[in-house]
Amino acid sequence: MSDMRLVVVGAGGRMGRALIRAIDEAPGITLSAAVERSGSPFLGEDAGILAGLSASGIKLTDDALAAFAAADGVVDFTAPQATRAFAELAAQARIVHVIGTTGLEPEDIARLDAAANHAVIVRSGNMSLGVNLLGALTRKVAATLGSDFDIEIVEMHHRHKVDAPSGTALLLGDAAAAGREVPLAENAVRVRDGHTGPRPEGAIGFATLRGGSVVGDHTVIFAGAGERVELAHKAEDRAIFARGAVRAALWGRGKKPGHYSMADVLGIAD
Ligand code: NAP
Repeated sequence: MSDMRLVVVGAGGRMGRALIRAIDEAPGITLSAAVERSGSPFLGEDAGILAGLSASGIKLTDDALAAFAAADGVVDFTAPQATRAFAELAAQARIVHVIGTTGLEPEDIARLDAAANHAVIVRSGNMSLGVNLLGALTRKVAATLGSDFDIEIVEMHHRHKVDAPSGTALLLGDAAAAGREVPLAENAVRVRDGHTGPRPEGAIGFATLRGGSVVGDHTVIFAGAGERVELAHKAEDRAIFARGAVRAALWGRGKKPGHYSMADVLGIAD
């Protein structure tokens, strides 16, 4: 089979540059276009140079439509508004859409579900192998320990991150809720301030720390009477997410339309 032609959208961003490097390293895949928003200062720059590589001959463009028409897939770590628009274009072009964007609202996810009737979408709040394994372990431990153990999820990210809790913290919260066979939305405590009263029974709590250049730290704490179990993951380099996204794109090629997760790609879905 010929190389998979992949578009990077948000190519000037932190993840966009990491994706360009990951595509450069991966066999069987070629960067076909690099897209940024209209008015971006990066338009016209060489994608390779921007990512710290040698010149690729691919200049950043704001013409997503033309880029998608000439590609087999798109990797998208941008922002919710941008991802909504790219999902429509990707579905029209019938190409694989790998989505790492976090902070999507339930309405956004419903729209992606609709687009997935016609397109292959692979979406995850975290594309790393380690975190997806952590999710599977969290589900198992939550099911084993039951509600005598209180679940708290602590995360820390760099000072530029705009959404909270992180997509990964929510992914881990979902895994914990699935282990307990309860919906996360009805049990999540995302903020605490002032006189909160005692901890509600069965709550799944989130605590958010922001600062410096931290790529992503997550700990799931199971706190019982007299003992604690902690499961943790620390991301040291954005390359782990970029490599996961490239793997997801290759996996999605030729799959039937659907809304898939990284657990499907890694073969660890239940
Ligand atoms: P970032 O550095 O701000 O990059 C986002 C890029 O997308 C920027 O270059 C931004 O351009 C661009 N963009 C925004 N709207 C656009 C549009 N309409 N068309 C084209 N480009 C557009 O952020 P980041 O740290 O790379 O993170 C990006 C997203 O990925 C966040 O949601 C983050 O939480 C998520 N993330 C997910 C994972 C995972 O494994 N799933 C891992 C890391 C990060 P402007 O600067 O001009 O707005």
